[in-house]
Formats: sequence, C-alpha cells, structure tokens
Amino acid sequence: MMDKIANLPPVSEMMRDCGLEPKKQFGQNFLFDLNLTGRIARSVPDITHTPVIEVGPGPAGLTRAILMAGAPRLIAIEKDKTTAPILSQIIDASDGRLSVIYDDALRVDFSALGVTEYAICANLPYNVGTELLIGWLQKIAHGESIKSLTLMFQREVALRITAHPGDEHYGRLAVLTSLISDSKILFDVPNTAFVPRPRVQSAVVQIIPNADKISKITDLSKIEQITAKLFGMRRKMIRGIMPNVDWERFGLTGTERAENLSPEMFATLAENLL
Ligand code: SAM
Repeated sequence: MMDKIANLPPVSEMMRDCGLEPKKQFGQNFLFDLNLTGRIARSVPDITHTPVIEVGPGPAGLTRAILMAGAPRLIAIEKDKTTAPILSQIIDASDGRLSVIYDDALRVDFSALGVTEYAICANLPYNVGTELLIGWLQKIAHGESIKSLTLMFQREVALRITAHPGDEHYGRLAVLTSLISDSKILFDVPNTAFVPRPRVQSAVVQIIPNADKISKITDLSKIEQITAKLFGMRRKMIRGIMPNVDWERFGLTGTERAENLSPEMFATLAENLL
C-alpha cells in the first residue's frame, strides 16, 4: 500500500513538472529531505492508529512521509490552490487515506472534519504559526480531542513555547502551553534543510495535551489576558503594573516580575483577579 507513495517522483521533480514555485506570501519554505520528513512523521505518537491533520502540505514532502509512516487517515488543509496538481497525485496514490481541503487553516473548524481524536503534524507557515497554536491550545482547553501536536516552528518560537519561569524566552506562549500540556523540543532543524532557505533556524516541538492539567483550567482566555498584561511590561514589578492588588493573598510580595511567576500562579491570578 505504501509502495505507490514511495514510487512517486521526488518532490522537487513534481514541483518542476507542475511549474510550482515557492511563494513568500504563504510562508512557503519546503522540505525535500526524506530522512527529515520521515523523522518528523515518525515522531507523531501512535501514528499507525491515529488520524492526522496537516496544515500546509504544499508540494507534499511531509504529507508523503506521514502516509509512509502509516497514518490511517490524513486530512491536509492548504491555502495555496496552485499546489492542487501535485496534491491530487498524492491523493490518487494514497488508497483513500488522504483528503485535502483548500482553505485558510485559521478559518477551518477542525471539529467538523469527521475525525474525533486526531494528531496535528505540520511544518507551519511562519507567519501564522503562533496564531494557529494559540487556537489549538484554546480548543484543547475546551475539551477537543487532540492527542498530540508535532510542529515545526522557527527555533525562537520553539524556545518560547517550551520555556520555564526565569528563562529569557518565558512568556505567554510557555504559560498557556504548560498549563494544559507537556511540551518539548524534539530536535533542531538547520535552515539549510528548507527550499528556499529561511534566515532563521527551526526546531520541531512536540506538545502532548495532559488531561489532569486541563481539568484544572477553567478559562484559558482569562489567563491570556493576565499574561498579556503582566508580560506587556516584563521588566516591571507586578505591583507597579496592578497597584490595587493585595499580592500577599497569593503568597507574593508584589515585587516579583512576570518572568518569575509560575504558570500555575498565572492561572490563580486569572481566576481571582479577572
Ligand atoms: N508541508 C510543506 C513542507 O514541509 O515542505 C510546506 C510547508 S510551508 C513552511 C507552509 C505551507 O503552509 C505552505 O504550503 C503554505 O502555502 C501553507 N499555508 C500558509 N498559510 C496557510 C494557512 N493560513 N492555511 C493553510 N495553509 C497555509
């Protein structure tokens, strides 16, 4: 069954045959290296039993790897319709496992795609990566059954997602991610792996929703509000930002800075102050 995918021409050849050129406005930096795409796809936990949603298949390098790794079902969402001549060939070779939706992933309701429990795997377009992630974190907090997210980000964003209190990169993304999941950087990817080559380095992040943590969160949007407020002036003491709060009530003095508060403290503050 995988042979049909394995026997397709190389991605670069299919692009040439279909006259597809990378487009900057869609954040297109493509992966052609089979070892790398295979490594990303095989990092998706339990991929042989898990439907996968991929954002931005483009010329299908990672898409092919996800199918080769044995995903029983793959739904890919692509904004750039000029990829259709390539993607339709992958659909034909996928034995009914792949379908493609040509739309903006920011507007697609994943819960209406007909898969109840799924993994997300993507080499994300850098211009909407964090916006997509925040949307998925909100969905997870509301009980959507996302089993895992295996995502390529700019390395700087990967560090912001996985940072701990006191780290230079600790902020809103780390707080929100940490309150509902366990996350880690799986491996770094040099800019030389992409066509065209971006200026920055990248990394693959894995995020696994954690049911225990999710059950303790009542309102992620309130936590977003308080992190935005306190990290908005991250070098300032919290009593300077919110002068009317009795910080001692939370075991704080008010002289702390946002970067030293734990994710759990942000959740407590959100619940009590907003
Ligand atoms: N998956 C391919 C790969 O790894 O070679 C392409 C990755 S490229 C970094 C990002 C892809 O996302 C592009 O194909 C781009 O057209 C698509 N894209 C950009 N914005 C999008 C959006 N809002 N919704 C869906 N796809 C989008």
